[in-house]
Amino acid sequence: MNWYKQASFDDDLTHALVDQMGEEKGKELAFNIHNEIESIGTEYRFENISALGLAKNNVCIISSDIFRYKVPNMIFVLFHELAHYYQYKKYGNEFAMSVYTNPPSEIDEDVDFLREIETTADRFARLKTSHYINKYEMKDSITLPGYSHFSDSFLEYHLLRIKDQIKK
Ligand SMILES: [Zn+2]
Repeated sequence: MNWYKQASFDDDLTHALVDQMGEEKGKELAFNIHNEIESIGTEYRFENISALGLAKNNVCIISSDIFRYKVPNMIFVLFHELAHYYQYKKYGNEFAMSVYTNPPSEIDEDVDFLREIETTADRFARLKTSHYINKYEMKDSITLPGYSHFSDSFLEYHLLRIKDQIKK
């Protein structure tokens, strides 16, 4: 019996990976991802939420929609969200919230900061995902555009709307 078969994960992620990659590779990738998540040290769960992911009360919540994605996109979203959790752990929970709670006069700085947080998470996710795409010789690649396709004016609009909601 192989080492990864002894760890019998019975969760949605494993099922989704096995569906697309077959029993052996799917379980092995699930095992690797579980280890990655454990080394980041976060709690995580999959829920039916409108965003792809969010970090709430130190729990990383990832949309269960990703189970319908092809594997590269599925794990790209997963690692992107995990990267945020890693950022919170490193810089504290307040650091990312500031972009939503700073006064609207600081919008330019907030847009820059949000873009930096998100592109860093994208870079981390792209590296991790590429590693597994190569390792398992996947035919699909990441087709999600990542954060860089959002314009400054879109991010500004997005942030100002949330700032406004928080005030209320
Ligand atoms: Zn993000």
